[in-house]
Amino acid sequence: MLKLQEITEIRKLFPILNKTINKKPLIYLDNAATTQKPLEVIDAISNYYKNFNSNIERSFHTLGMKSYFEVSRTRNSIKNFINAKDNSEIIFTSGTTESINLIAQSYGSDNLNKGDTMLLSYLEHHSNIVPWQILCKQKKAKLEFIPLLNTGELDLNSYENILKKKKPKIISIIYASNVLGTINDIEYMIKLAHKYGAKIIIDAAQAIPHIKIDVQKLNCDFLAFSAHKMYGPTGVGILYGKKNLLEKMPPYKYGGGMIKEVNIINNEFRESPIKFEAGTVNIANIVAFNNTIEFINKIGLKEIERYESELINYFINELSKIEKIEIIGNPKKRVPLVSFISENMHALDIGMLLDANGIAIRTGDHCAQPLMNALNIDGTIRVSLAIYNTKEELDFFIQTLKKILKNTNGK
Ligand code: PMP
Repeated sequence: MLKLQEITEIRKLFPILNKTINKKPLIYLDNAATTQKPLEVIDAISNYYKNFNSNIERSFHTLGMKSYFEVSRTRNSIKNFINAKDNSEIIFTSGTTESINLIAQSYGSDNLNKGDTMLLSYLEHHSNIVPWQILCKQKKAKLEFIPLLNTGELDLNSYENILKKKKPKIISIIYASNVLGTINDIEYMIKLAHKYGAKIIIDAAQAIPHIKIDVQKLNCDFLAFSAHKMYGPTGVGILYGKKNLLEKMPPYKYGGGMIKEVNIINNEFRESPIKFEAGTVNIANIVAFNNTIEFINKIGLKEIERYESELINYFINELSKIEKIEIIGNPKKRVPLVSFISENMHALDIGMLLDANGIAIRTGDHCAQPLMNALNIDGTIRVSLAIYNTKEELDFFIQTLKKILKNTNGK
């Protein structure tokens, strides 16, 4: 278990954590929206622009080759990080959203036909709903949703029934909920999907900074995540896909870099991953993403998981002692985030008063309106943790929240 002294050392790597907000020390508890970045990641971006800024895949001079080498190095680090078989299975995108749009408009467009069924769940983020809604409309396919249990977990009996009866061709599921924290039994869901002949995509945006992911062990067909939610830069995401599937998929955007040959009538594309990376990728941030992987590997995901789960359990326990607070969902396994509402005060107002005390959290529907509708609420207050958060910060949060609620009750 990481000790406070080690967490103090980790905190020193994040310059922003020294800031004051509204004259109070910043307490950053909005990590599910985006995490803060360690100095080595920030420095790697400026080092790239200062020392080897150049384009890749078309400029073969010394600087261009250095950039190419660094981008390939990040690709290889990601491959190892998620235990993919081959570097060609790792595609750079701009984030989870683009990764899912890519699968929908490439694999989805090629494989979903009129009358087919596509399966999602009520826990999904808008970025894992809307691209599929658009595709289903284009193809005249049907969209089904796995229902929720009261605990905030997916109803896996219904899942199997839908698989049996509706035989969906494609399933796309969130690994860990950005609203309730629920960690889905993804390994079981993938096994069942394959048993009934479906391909399955995993939205790992919220799982990747907290849980060790091994794509070969999971046997998922595709996996999507964003660098910025795992201490990395914004504007970079990953789409992992099984090689045999990527080989058959068409590109979903077209342009420079991905072309093998083009004349004024015809064109031929290069292989994966370049086939899917038309135009100039976010080179500086991809280079810096490698430092992120090194940062996480140095601490170790097992250690991160252990520390964060102790912290979130402590926090939920303290939160549950406060009167007139309702914690939403009670999943057996969760990533370090929790949503709650107050009987007396709107989430948005609580968020603003917390901010006045230097505490950053997120309020609202968290880009999950179908889930809000299923829960019959219009928004929550969400506290989401990262490796640099401390028990002291959570104690200050609880004290501040109590004061805010006390003042509104007029007691
Ligand atoms: N899926 C989930 C579960 C998320 O939490 C998010 C971000 N909130 C996304 C997808 C979209 O990620 P991005 O904005 O980085 O594309």
